[in-house]
Amino acid sequence: MSFFLIVSVFLTACKPPPSQKILAMGTFCSINLFHDGRPELYKRLFDRIIQLENKFSVNIPASEISRVNESAGKSAVKVSDETFFVTKAALDAAYATDGAFNPLILPLTRLWNVSGLNPKVPTEAEIFEAKSHCDYRTIILNENERSIFLQDEKSAMDLGGITKGFVCDELRKILVEENVKNAVLNLGGNVFIFGKNPEKKDWQVAIRDPFSGEGAALVVFLEEGSVVTSGDYERFFEKDGEVFHHIIHWKTGYPSRGDLKSVSILSQKSMVADILSTAFFVMGWDESLKFLENREKYPSLIPDDVQVLAITKDKKVLTSKNFHVKITKNEFR
Ligand code: ADP
Ligand code: MG
Repeated sequence: MSFFLIVSVFLTACKPPPSQKILAMGTFCSINLFHDGRPELYKRLFDRIIQLENKFSVNIPASEISRVNESAGKSAVKVSDETFFVTKAALDAAYATDGAFNPLILPLTRLWNVSGLNPKVPTEAEIFEAKSHCDYRTIILNENERSIFLQDEKSAMDLGGITKGFVCDELRKILVEENVKNAVLNLGGNVFIFGKNPEKKDWQVAIRDPFSGEGAALVVFLEEGSVVTSGDYERFFEKDGEVFHHIIHWKTGYPSRGDLKSVSILSQKSMVADILSTAFFVMGWDESLKFLENREKYPSLIPDDVQVLAITKDKKVLTSKNFHVKITKNEFR
């Protein structure tokens, strides 16, 4: 949702075929396979999205994560390889980021209900109670049994900050297997560009102006890979002139109040980009840059190719080194 693509670089001679879309994971998921777009291949990709949503979604009572949440305080739940892998990555990220990324955030996200129909500002007492059940250190993973146990019976997992990235990585495997040349995946703002631009140029991905929510603030250039953005302008509600968005800092119990309006991560690894965009939004710019210096300590969380771009609340554009970006709206220059 935070992006739109400029595909004019593609196939200047003839118009590219349209993308195909489904509603899944609480958002529109669109795929464009361009001239490799066989119907059965679209079906295979969309089926995979649904299959993974059915494992991870907390809105699907029979999902593996819902079962883990229901068994909180009672018993460990054996899960599939994928669910274990994503949960482990999320938990490792929680320890590495000191909880800026926190997969045990559901008591707070449920309470605030920002993406729901009737969001409201909770009372101090409600926030205090909910945040006491978001301590990720109470999650127990058993690698041998591939099981997850939530020790706190009132705790619950929410993998909303990592799922779309993981799904992109999984779809990419199918594209490789099927020898697809070029594809663009857009899972509600998690964009993945597959394959090099046939015109031997970089792809251009526009980053939405996070203040107006309209038009491009800037354009990033990339060979291929993922661009994942987290911001406070897609899912939020307003109450008495104050904006409350959907990324919650469990230590305060409130939507995070850092200096960034939006943060985008570029990497070949979409799941990692998804984790980092959420975490960096909570951490703010200085802490995020410091975190990136820990590459040796957290090699799987901080891939070599990772690049960061942020738009601050005072409309500055900040980037990590070697970022190729063109600012398109004057107010961000
Ligand atoms: P989006 O899903 O809107 O693209 P994000 O990847 O940043 O954006 O994920 C936000 C989602 O992650 C929230 O809707 C919620 O489900 C979950 N979440 C909220 N706060 C946190 C947090 N501090 N750490 C991890 N996940 C979070
Ligand atoms: Mg995320």
